[in-house]
Amino acid sequence: MKAEIVAVGTELLLGDIVNTNAQYLSRELAALGISVYRQTVVGDNEERLLATFKDALSRCDLVITTGGLGPTDDDITKEIAAKFFNKELVFHEESWELIKGYFNKMEKEPGENNRKQAYFPKDAIILKNNNGTAPGAILKDEENNKTIIVLPGPPAEMERMFKESVFPYLKRFRSSVFVSKVLRIAGIGESEAADKIKDILQGQTNPTIAPYAKQFDTTFRITASAESEEKAEEMIKPVEKQIRDRLGENVYGEGEVTMEEVVAKLLIDKNLTISVAESCTGGLLASRLINYPGISQVFVEGAVTYSNEAKMRRLGVKESTLEKYGAVSEETAREMAEGIAREAGTDIGVSTTGIAGPGGGTEEKPVGLVYAGLCINGVTKVKKLNYNGSRERIRNRTTAFVLDWIRRELL
Ligand code: ATP
Ligand code: MG
Repeated sequence: MKAEIVAVGTELLLGDIVNTNAQYLSRELAALGISVYRQTVVGDNEERLLATFKDALSRCDLVITTGGLGPTDDDITKEIAAKFFNKELVFHEESWELIKGYFNKMEKEPGENNRKQAYFPKDAIILKNNNGTAPGAILKDEENNKTIIVLPGPPAEMERMFKESVFPYLKRFRSSVFVSKVLRIAGIGESEAADKIKDILQGQTNPTIAPYAKQFDTTFRITASAESEEKAEEMIKPVEKQIRDRLGENVYGEGEVTMEEVVAKLLIDKNLTISVAESCTGGLLASRLINYPGISQVFVEGAVTYSNEAKMRRLGVKESTLEKYGAVSEETAREMAEGIAREAGTDIGVSTTGIAGPGGGTEEKPVGLVYAGLCINGVTKVKKLNYNGSRERIRNRTTAFVLDWIRRELL
């Protein structure tokens, strides 16, 4: 099957936003074994959009669009796709109920123009939008065996709709089956991780191994193609084992799992309560942990103790410690971790204190110097970290490091 991706939106042409939807769809279609021959960007313009459909479908079987499904008059993708296939638009009661429900949840009423979003080309398969209002649709021209799939523009809406509805729909058209498994790596960078499995990476054909680095996460995606899912899974197993053997504890999970989820589950499993005292990370650590829905079983308290005064009052850090060693020091990090564990009455206390910049650095204590403390059942360890980059990066790195550190200590 041959496909083209059409991103609709004048914003894209003006350079206001980046076409990340095309990247996402290309990757997903490749994993399905569907060849993407072109990506096009076109403005919200009837004539040019019609011409784009004509062009693309003269070359391929499937066009996937993103954008232009909203309620306003310049959102025209669905209407033009219907026009291109000569399909009339019909009102879809169920979609209208869902749209009304979406608004009611926010204690609002849908506007009259939202009704437009409940009209669909006749015989279209309607795709629910579980992250917004605009449903998507699959339109088929049975006679010529051509398909247009229209998806919303906002990436969160588009990706969820793709995963939940489009992927299962397209799966049936592939000749061979592709199965992927993602291994998530922490504690070492992408190049270092790739170095450790250099020989495995070299000469790989099926399965293939693709390293990705995103934010502070490195992942390896192992993909095998075979005539059946079971067969592909079998092919992935030995490669996965090889990689796990080499990388050991650096592999923290697989699939869509997050570091906070892994940490939270370890805490729950071991029945250990936790509290955090943050200075330079200012709540990021607590926030990451609280991302995990079941964390209330173990997470007791997070304190953002930014000033010296707060560190003393809230955590019982000694004035003499702050005077002698400073707020960014091994000693302070230790007293912070122990202090929060004591005050909150938890098994584990965690602390961060550092110089996030851009100002405030000295020769002795440069920007990016961070101390993190971890007190588990009365035994405290402190780590000295050194990061470079922006304030945001230093704070995020510290948070990522501490979560991974907790994980390793609990293993
Ligand atoms: P809405 O109901 O929000 O109007 P829509 O389906 O009409 O959604 P657009 O109006 O085209 O979509 O785009 C809405 C937003 O989605 C854009 O402002 C942009 O933030 C994001 N977006 C749209 N197209 C893309 C794209 N190709 N890549 C990444 N983001 C996109
Ligand atoms: Mg719009």
